[in-house]
Amino acid sequence: MKSERKFARVVKFYSNLLVVEDLENGERLLCKLRGKFKKQGIRPIVGDIVEYLHIVKNEGVIENILNRNNELKKPSVANVDQVVIVTTLEKPQVPYDILDRFIVLVEYENLPIVIVLNKVDLLSQEEISEFESIYGKLYPIIKTSALQKIGVDELKDKLHGKVSVFAGMSGVGKSSLLNAIDENLKLRTGEISEKLERGKHTTTAAELLRISSGGWVVDTPGFASLEISHIQPIELRDLFVEFDNEKCFFPDCLHVDEPECHVKRLVEKGKIPESRYESYLKFLTELEEEQAV
Ligand code: GDP
Ligand code: ZN
Repeated sequence: MKSERKFARVVKFYSNLLVVEDLENGERLLCKLRGKFKKQGIRPIVGDIVEYLHIVKNEGVIENILNRNNELKKPSVANVDQVVIVTTLEKPQVPYDILDRFIVLVEYENLPIVIVLNKVDLLSQEEISEFESIYGKLYPIIKTSALQKIGVDELKDKLHGKVSVFAGMSGVGKSSLLNAIDENLKLRTGEISEKLERGKHTTTAAELLRISSGGWVVDTPGFASLEISHIQPIELRDLFVEFDNEKCFFPDCLHVDEPECHVKRLVEKGKIPESRYESYLKFLTELEEEQAV
């Protein structure tokens, strides 16, 4: 029997087998793991690129796990290309500092960010303009309405060929958007997956869902805990991409009340939006109190 070594992406687990998708032809196979992985204590996770040996029909054996570009813990997924932070300003009215918290968490993981402002059907032009004036210079923004199918094609383009994790407060429309992109996608919403899937005895592994127009989304929203305590106070300033940290007089300036602080000057001049600076101070205080305990 002719067998051949090929590359595939792990899309989900199926009891103790893995479902992988061949990188070249997109075919799905069920794969076993070589015993050596168990001995070495190595486990592939969803999103891993693996080298596999094709055995018969749609069955194979995983030979090798390629080095990961990155690895998220919750959900556990490797090789994420970008995080789509979904937010809105009405129903629910998501405060800017909640969005900033998501941004900080994603920046800490060093992943590219796309911001989706959803429910534009409910928003005034003033609200949208203010939002764009704060975030438009920092990240790509896609304005959408899952309800009225606005911006859906633009979002499809952004997701094309990439592995994306959706994030954002519950109720902003993450699952609605994914259903608008591809009606075969049924993203488990935060609340539902919490109740149905995270019972005591089930461990939820993430799953990669293929989008019909191209690309993959992780079925579980990321960064749901909003916990930032793993970040050091001095690391926080680098997670605000518009802060020009190097231009302050003190190299380790935290931009609070140090003299000759360039960042504070930028805030005064309106070059850094007040709300962003306020979020920064709020998070910094939180982290410093955390450290003092
Ligand atoms: P998730 O928790 O982020 O997955 O949010 P859902 O997709 O479950 O949406 C929460 C609620 O917002 C649902 O009642 C949706 O019908 C509604 N919704 C989602 N997108 C839109 C939108 O673009 N416009 C309006 N008006 N409502 C929306
Ligand atoms: Zn400073």
